[in-house]
Amino acid sequence: MVNVRKPVWLKSEKLGAKKAREIIKNLRKYNLHTVCESAKCPNQGECFERGTATFMILGETCTRNCTFCAVDKTRKILSPPDPNEPKAIAELSRELGLKHVVITTVTRDDLSDGGAEQFVKVVKEIKKICGNDITVEILTSDFNGDPEQVQKVVNAAPDIFNHNVETIPRLYAEVRPMADFQRSISVLIKAKNCNPAILTKSGFMVGLGESQTEVLSLLRELRKADVDIITIGQYIAPSKEHYPVTEYVHPDIFKYYQSEGEKMGFKIVESAPLVRSSYQAEKARKFITKPLN
Ligand code: SF4
Repeated sequence: MVNVRKPVWLKSEKLGAKKAREIIKNLRKYNLHTVCESAKCPNQGECFERGTATFMILGETCTRNCTFCAVDKTRKILSPPDPNEPKAIAELSRELGLKHVVITTVTRDDLSDGGAEQFVKVVKEIKKICGNDITVEILTSDFNGDPEQVQKVVNAAPDIFNHNVETIPRLYAEVRPMADFQRSISVLIKAKNCNPAILTKSGFMVGLGESQTEVLSLLRELRKADVDIITIGQYIAPSKEHYPVTEYVHPDIFKYYQSEGEKMGFKIVESAPLVRSSYQAEKARKFITKPLN
């Protein structure tokens, strides 16, 4: 565990505070949530300023217990999928003039389909209300490895299928005890097999005790799974109760991972201390092969 102050490179500029307040006011109006807020993301202002937001569906309480994650895991009674959520997200996306929308979720192992049907409804409603120019990225759970649910959400034709592996396999027992690394890889492979034209994406944090060799072998494993886009960011412990940070990785190491990832053939490698799954997510639009008018 590092007992050192956060280095300067982890200080995020308080960008777009006014825009952020405006977006949060709108979110409340539509009774919507973003993972940006619940995960205390350092880039909120900047992303909102650029017209990108990550909506969180299926409530704010997760059925898993990842030790790095700030999301609530305490409530025992979980709310059923909100039937108004798809339309609310689509209308707010249109109202905000969003070009790229990311839809994410907590893990809902309590739902027989893991929440897949709600993803389908949200993606379809966004495309119906916002038209063809908007691009939609879904950041899903592992649906407990159920290939049928992966097929179902890919059939709704999101432009990007994202599922985070979060860390190296060796640390899963401590960091993601209810997840399984090979299951996550199989979900990413299944998504690409369902629709080879879809962009697949994954992300992980560093600073949890992994070695550079382990990071490079993780990148190779994700490339072997034909993943197109990677995000790599510094783990920041939400509190002293969460998994401890073991290292604040220097920005030069992030640059090294970026160049190694690009050499391996990833279309996009976002690798820097403050990078998060949806950070600069709209950059991927240039790789989306539908007629964008
Ligand atoms: S599954 Fe996702 S939301 Fe749930 S605890 Fe883990 S990281 Fe957090």
